[in-house]
Amino acid sequence: MTGSTNMARIFCIGQNYIAHIKELSNPMPEKPVIFMRPLSCQVPPGEEIHFPKHGKLLHYEVEVVVRIGKQGQNINEEEALSYIDAVTLGADLTLRDLQKQAKEKGLPWEEAKSFEQSAPLGEFRPYDPAEINLKNLNFTCKINGELRQNGNTDDMLFSFERLIAELSKIWILSPGDMIYTGTPSGVGPLQIGDSIEVESDQIGSFKWSIIE
Ligand code: ZN
Repeated sequence: MTGSTNMARIFCIGQNYIAHIKELSNPMPEKPVIFMRPLSCQVPPGEEIHFPKHGKLLHYEVEVVVRIGKQGQNINEEEALSYIDAVTLGADLTLRDLQKQAKEKGLPWEEAKSFEQSAPLGEFRPYDPAEINLKNLNFTCKINGELRQNGNTDDMLFSFERLIAELSKIWILSPGDMIYTGTPSGVGPLQIGDSIEVESDQIGSFKWSIIE
């Protein structure tokens, strides 16, 4: 089951790990920073990703991605985890140069974040709390086999429960909707020829390569 329909959305959370907020010199957000990507930005594991031609500084960001399994609005934090039906890892590819310009001018982030192939996405694993501990999930990002990011969901500023509660105040969450839940510290640049591998022993390992 892919679980996604053409109606599904990709919600993304920025600035959700304290060490990452500090490495980008961002102020600590008081509520989740939310942006979106079209579903067409997804890249399945194993595929090649073209380096975007409209920017120069392409950054990797490994993220835990959860998928919504049932419809809900104004969801309570206490019930929020029951809305997750599957979990995987993805990468939030970001043109940091364009994002910096957009931030300085107070402009939206689409050119920096929501371009073609900007959302590599692993294969979803069914969410079983007995097998996947979302409160203590270790996950990594390797570039050309070298460890660059080593995160744990324990360090999230806003929990999965809080993210689902906040999103569902604004949108009616529906089956197939996905949430990229933010990246830990260690982000950095990608070059043509690089491989990017995201991994968690509770979820699996997924890899992509960057080509011209
Ligand atoms: Zn991100």
